[in-house]
Amino acid sequence: MLNEAKLIITDKKDPLEQIWQIGTDSLFGPKIIEVDALDRDFAEEVERRSHAGLRRCYFCRSCGNGCPFVTAMDVPPYAVMRMVHYGLREEALSTRTIWICVNCHTCASQCPMAIDIAAMMNTLCHMALEERVPVPTPDILKFHLEVVRSIERHGRTHKLGIMLRLKLLTGEWFKDVDVGLKMLSKRKLDLRPSRIRALKEIHRLFLPYWRVVKP
Ligand code: SF4
Ligand code: SF4
Repeated sequence: MLNEAKLIITDKKDPLEQIWQIGTDSLFGPKIIEVDALDRDFAEEVERRSHAGLRRCYFCRSCGNGCPFVTAMDVPPYAVMRMVHYGLREEALSTRTIWICVNCHTCASQCPMAIDIAAMMNTLCHMALEERVPVPTPDILKFHLEVVRSIERHGRTHKLGIMLRLKLLTGEWFKDVDVGLKMLSKRKLDLRPSRIRALKEIHRLFLPYWRVVKP
């Protein structure tokens, strides 16, 4: 319920609160949020940087139903969307969801408003790194960076290289070995990377990214 001073998230009968509860119970539980603490420019900033079309969202929640990774997320994609709309900067930037998202665009294909939710997630990850928000699962960041490095190095991902470098970083040599062997047997892992020609241009694209990410 919205009053002059506070957005009070306590009564599940209120439609606004139901929306909130569906999306964020697992992360926060019922809580009181000072309206003054909301970042009113947050949605505008995310939209300016992502061009995702956030204003078109009418919260149908189809994106959460279609996301193949929703069970690994702490909140579904539509809840992150809601946090952005409400101006909950800190909460949105600290969710695990933005890091779990693999940019598969399944949600966008199911979104009736054709919103680019993956672009929003990417922008939030970038903002989280800029603002030094701790990544909820540090190994996710290691994986994320290895994927980015692989694209920078070859122009596309080299999955075997990513896996080996990740194992070197984490020391978990035997974790998921069965999956790796299965992928090898199905010829899903190329032993050698394939490179594109325009690598110089690719490197240039990554310069601003590393300025933010590298300490
Ligand atoms: S599917 Fe699209 S319109 Fe529906 S909640 Fe998700 S982003 Fe919003
Ligand atoms: S792009 Fe991200 S949020 Fe959308 S379906 Fe894929 S993993 Fe889920």
